[in-house]
Amino acid sequence: MIAGVGNVYRAEVLFRHGIDPYLPGRDLTRAQWDAIWADLVSLMREGVRHNRIDTVRPEHLPEAMGRPPRVDDHGGEVYVYRRAADHCHICGSEIRTAGLAARNLFWCPGCQPPTARRP
Ligand SMILES: [Zn+2]
Repeated sequence: MIAGVGNVYRAEVLFRHGIDPYLPGRDLTRAQWDAIWADLVSLMREGVRHNRIDTVRPEHLPEAMGRPPRVDDHGGEVYVYRRAADHCHICGSEIRTAGLAARNLFWCPGCQPPTARRP
């Protein structure tokens, strides 16, 4: 079980690892879990250092991709969080959103393909 990272890091770390947000936690592999944990530790350390949440890898930053920076009150460069209906920086698919347990999910259907067990 993991708790307390917040909805932004939740959405973004699942994107960074290509994991369907509907995948039950018990179905994560040990390797996926270890990779998520290591990534969260690194991302959150950077978040504290810069006082904002940035989850985009250097090669996907606006200046690297020649795209405009994100405009959002919450700041930071992200892949999917609050980007519903925008296009994925990686594959161009339309970012999706849906409610789950009083939180909003955000994911890319191209980079995070649905699992067989999706409801
Ligand atoms: Zn994508």
